[in-house]
Amino acid sequence: MPVVLMLVMLLSVTSVQAQTLRMSELDPDTNRAVAPVIRAANALFPRLPGVTLTTRIDALCGGDDETSEHVRYCTDQNLIFLTRGLVAEVGSKDAAFILAHAYGHAVQVRHGVADIALRAITTQRLREVELRRMVESQVACNAGVILDRAFGDDAPDGPGSQYFANAHWGRAPLASRAKIALDLEEQRRWYQIGRRQGLSACEVGDIPIEPLRQFIRR
Ligand SMILES: [Zn+2]
Repeated sequence: MPVVLMLVMLLSVTSVQAQTLRMSELDPDTNRAVAPVIRAANALFPRLPGVTLTTRIDALCGGDDETSEHVRYCTDQNLIFLTRGLVAEVGSKDAAFILAHAYGHAVQVRHGVADIALRAITTQRLREVELRRMVESQVACNAGVILDRAFGDDAPDGPGSQYFANAHWGRAPLASRAKIALDLEEQRRWYQIGRRQGLSACEVGDIPIEPLRQFIRR
């Protein structure tokens, strides 16, 4: 594991009650942007990854200069890394959105949807891009569910910029990951579906929602 300068923010996800946030070293803006997202995601789903801020994101998860500089969800470490200056770089609403997107992947990975998607991709290689776009659409929808829980009517309307065109999740090395991104309009559309209609509306083509419905906590 690389040496990482980090602040451990989330220690326990075994139950909502047991969650322990150590936010004391965070600046208030970062705390306001990310703490509600962490709380909401873990209130909704069990067994999610911890979140870590880092000043060395470029060294993580086997990324390269085409790997996201904002967020990396490293599945083999089960950690979400955010770059430490994220709120200053993108603003608090987009920082919350970026973290919620990472959680959107995490719930797929932790609760069976990613396995289903991978099986579909490996048996239908000609549909890989289409299937990966479906995965990303569901992630945007999941992010809407999480941010609605986190902020209610004050949730962001959607991402202000394209943050996910580069690889941002998976097993190391991320440099080898396929780069599949929805355009902003499509991201916002699925995000709003999740926000307004809830998790049940997040089934996208061949990517089922039932595995997540079994785990979501209301
Ligand atoms: Zn993504």
